[in-house]
Amino acid sequence: MQARRSCTTDGVMRKQMQKKATQSRVNKPGPVSKPAAKPTKKVPPKPTAKPAAKPAAKPSVKAKASIAPKSNAAKGKSASPAGTYKKAGKGKPFGTVTLVQRDDADHMMKILCKRYPDAECELTHKNDFELLTSVILSAQTTDAQVNKVTPSLFARFSTPKALAEADIEEVKQIVRPTGYYNAKAKSIQDCAIGIVTKFGGKIPKTLEELITLPGVGRKTANVVLGVLHGESAWTVDTHVQRLSHRLGFTTEEDPYKIELALQKLFPNDDWSKFSITLIWHGRRTCFAKNPNCAECPINHLCPSSSV
Ligand code: SF4
Repeated sequence: MQARRSCTTDGVMRKQMQKKATQSRVNKPGPVSKPAAKPTKKVPPKPTAKPAAKPAAKPSVKAKASIAPKSNAAKGKSASPAGTYKKAGKGKPFGTVTLVQRDDADHMMKILCKRYPDAECELTHKNDFELLTSVILSAQTTDAQVNKVTPSLFARFSTPKALAEADIEEVKQIVRPTGYYNAKAKSIQDCAIGIVTKFGGKIPKTLEELITLPGVGRKTANVVLGVLHGESAWTVDTHVQRLSHRLGFTTEEDPYKIELALQKLFPNDDWSKFSITLIWHGRRTCFAKNPNCAECPINHLCPSSSV
């Protein structure tokens, strides 16, 4: 009897254990199988390309365009190719631009060329090294101020090699009157080092090569190409930027886009001469503040004339 009771008890216990084990297996979380992926409809990819930019307003059509202060240029997002133009500044709006017809643009340019027949680069220089260095120094200051310091600078360091090996503190002291002298001294010395190391001490003669030099942007390179090598190149400095808007040549704010717009507006012409002529007019009559419209020879054509 004892043995039968034991068997029965064992059987009951075995059954209970099997039940528990079964329950345990059921409750134990097994590997989660991923739900079968739903068959998805093929959705055509969203077009990522931005819609094509509106074509630039034709200068042949009179149109008013307000220069929005929060343009890409104002946000510091220059459309210039990297390293070719400095980013546009804080984007001071120039006001309303009224685009002029191509004939009027030509007419105004002819009158200005007659007004300034002797217009030329006002930076004193004897060679390409001096001009290149002077243009870098001319940022945020006047040519007259640069001309005051360059005689002593080039008397002390007359070649790219000499400037490349110069004591930077001495260079800083010489260029100090031009402002931002720490950065400018470094820029002209880095440029000189680039000329020595990349081009064997000779100033390159192409835009592509010039803009590889430290401190040399598209504007600086175009000055050198236009003044020294007679190439047709627009120099978009602060005066050309301002006058391009006032005269209704373009609504663009980015210097590189202005350059392209001017190339289209004045095809196959003497862009270097036109650049210098606009710069002279900006310095002598069409001042940033209080332009002298009363004395301006193109006030009858200029859409921004106050007279
Ligand atoms: S009319 Fe006045 S705004 Fe127009 S170009 Fe002459 S000075 Fe400048």
